[in-house]
Amino acid sequence: MRPQKITISEVGPRDGLQIERRLLPAEQKIALIDRLSATGLTRIEVSAFVHPKVVPQMADAEAVFAGIMRRPGVRYAGLVMNARGAERAVAASVDDIKTGIAVSDSFNELNVRMTTEQGMRALGEIAAVAKGTRSRIVGGIATAFGCPYEGPVPIEQVHRLFAQLAGFGAPVIYLADTTGMANPASITRTIESLRARWPNQPIGLHLHNTRGLGLANALAGLELGVVDFESSIGGLGGCPFAPRAVGNICTEDFVHMAHEMGIGTGVDLDALLRVAAFTQEAVGRPLPGMVMKAGKANERHDKAAPRMKVD
Ligand code: ZN
Repeated sequence: MRPQKITISEVGPRDGLQIERRLLPAEQKIALIDRLSATGLTRIEVSAFVHPKVVPQMADAEAVFAGIMRRPGVRYAGLVMNARGAERAVAASVDDIKTGIAVSDSFNELNVRMTTEQGMRALGEIAAVAKGTRSRIVGGIATAFGCPYEGPVPIEQVHRLFAQLAGFGAPVIYLADTTGMANPASITRTIESLRARWPNQPIGLHLHNTRGLGLANALAGLELGVVDFESSIGGLGGCPFAPRAVGNICTEDFVHMAHEMGIGTGVDLDALLRVAAFTQEAVGRPLPGMVMKAGKANERHDKAAPRMKVD
């Protein structure tokens, strides 16, 4: 069931940058997004239409959308949490309105100050705003594999949210391991349970590497034929409401793994590695991406060159 080709949605400019302390100017974000779209990536999460007081890094969502080059074949996404955000996103002509909801009340209240129930009503309002516009709804279920405050999440609750998002005709619904609580077995269990009820609804994975299981969890998804993945350039990111969270799985490390396994991504890995270096420079801190440090597995090294001693 392992796919021959997958689609990677780059979430670094939004999910990644939103927790960075250094506020990047809009021009730098635009430069990052234009560089990312030049690598062959066809899905890019550009910004979030949320209140600027809550997420100051995303206050320039309109300016960033207006400044980027819209490359044909690339879908540009904006995160939205309520009807007001959806109106802004539609006005900015976003291709994909990304919206979602956390399975657990505790997490949802911290994240968007709504209970899961209120969040589900907000989803209905967002869908109503998007209806008949060029913007389509892409769904996400946060803390789908566990909540740091409530522990394991009941699968029935995941089903309930999935049913609502599927009802909006979401082309793909991402299950998010927001705080890195999934493992390959729970990924398999959850996807199989959803597929048993919704055999035709595409399911994607949004994984974090909080406990080092990011790529192992991605592999579990690949073995089940999952073709939609979200990841972040350089491994940028984390979550302001997840204790000690580290970033998303790293885009270039994941592309490297896929290519080594013979799975196509349509992405130019060398170009992507250059964008990772650019991103690291822009945020001014070392990023966790590993291939940008070690080089690709298929690179051959010069025996005569000085090298590290290996014990
Ligand atoms: Zn995330």
